[in-house]
Amino acid sequence: MYSGYDECVGKLRIMAKQTNLHCSFCGRSRDEVKILIAGQEGHICENCVEHAQEIILQELQIKQEHILGSQSGGAGFKMTIKKPLEIKQFLDEYIIGQDEAKKVLSVAVYNHFKRITQKQATDDVEIEKSNIIMVGETGTGKTLLAKTIARLLQVPFAIVDATVFTEAGYVGEDVESMLTRLLQNCNYDVDAAQRGIVYVDEIDKIARKGDNPSITRDVSGEGVQQGLLKMLEGTEVLVPPQGGRKHPEQKMIKVDTRNILFICGGAFDGVDKIIARRINTNAIGFNVNKTSQEEQRKNLLQFVNATDLKSFGLIPELLGRLPVVTHLNPLDEETLRNILTEPKNSLIKQYTKLFELEGISLVMDNEVFDFMVQKALEYKLGARGLRTICESILTDAMFELPGTNTKELHVTLDYAEQMFNKSKVSLLKVA
Ligand code: ADP
Repeated sequence: MYSGYDECVGKLRIMAKQTNLHCSFCGRSRDEVKILIAGQEGHICENCVEHAQEIILQELQIKQEHILGSQSGGAGFKMTIKKPLEIKQFLDEYIIGQDEAKKVLSVAVYNHFKRITQKQATDDVEIEKSNIIMVGETGTGKTLLAKTIARLLQVPFAIVDATVFTEAGYVGEDVESMLTRLLQNCNYDVDAAQRGIVYVDEIDKIARKGDNPSITRDVSGEGVQQGLLKMLEGTEVLVPPQGGRKHPEQKMIKVDTRNILFICGGAFDGVDKIIARRINTNAIGFNVNKTSQEEQRKNLLQFVNATDLKSFGLIPELLGRLPVVTHLNPLDEETLRNILTEPKNSLIKQYTKLFELEGISLVMDNEVFDFMVQKALEYKLGARGLRTICESILTDAMFELPGTNTKELHVTLDYAEQMFNKSKVSLLKVA
């Protein structure tokens, strides 16, 4: 069968065979190339066709990335939506235990991203924001959880401390300045910031100071909670680019907080008593046998709910905007032991790497790990203290060994005890 295509190719070949022709792109003559394809007013050789194809592919790729980038909220922040199970698995690599909190967070974050990526709703169903509040003793991994989530999602992330905020007009910072931090962390890319995550630490420190606010103004407690309300719910906020107080002469940046996920965390010291009181009156969970009663009493935080946080001093309106409440368990001996060695970037892995960079292999006896955990518990230092203890044991070696011919550092229990006892940490013991 004879088609128009064959005819065209035939003509091109004939033209290319003619002498003194050259490629209009690279200038090579007919003899220097294998194929010369004729166009209406010029020719192109096989080399230039290949080159052109590469350019086309590159250009298309750049365009595609640009489109993805703008869909995901700005340059450099690609939004990868993972399923809750995948989120939990990722968290497991970095955080030991705290299964309940991980599960709740995974679902909340997944729902949040489903919400912000959903097409314009055609029905009347509007998914509400799932801001989160985490209750757990200090050093149990609240910040680590929030940080790890942000790392997984690759969205802008800011950690702010609720204690620095005061009601407008008083010494301190406006609540809006937490968005300044977020903007700074993504080079003022407003689109990206509008899909970011803010972790508000020490939310318990802005609890209402007392039941009678009329005696003294509660500018760093209830006042700040009121300030947070609109922001948590979703509104357009004018943000001072450099933080601090708003000044009339300062140029503000408008940030829409509708799609910003707020995760709040706090130790809520004393909330266990509130929970105990509530549970005893309601008798929930205590109609089981004695040993399990004991177990449950040990960690009352697992029963925490919004009512308890209200009794603690958070205003109901704020709690309404933090619909997901979860808890973190206190760290026991086994968890502390695992924290030392298990996570992807555990302390011991980090120190091993530091020595490795000096060409020294670090070997630590198992008893040394147990010793560290014992000291962390004894001195009530928690997981944060593990680092201090590691430092106290390894500082001398890290100071003396670089530059020597040592190839291995073997840390025995004796050595660890000796180093620890001569360090300042050993003076920290609480009565
Ligand atoms: P919080 O915010 O609850 O006060 P952090 O998240 O700042 O506590 O934890 C302090 C440090 O303790 C972390 O950087 C981490 O090294 C360690 N840590 C605490 N809990 C865990 C955990 N469950 N798994 C792994 N590391 C932990």
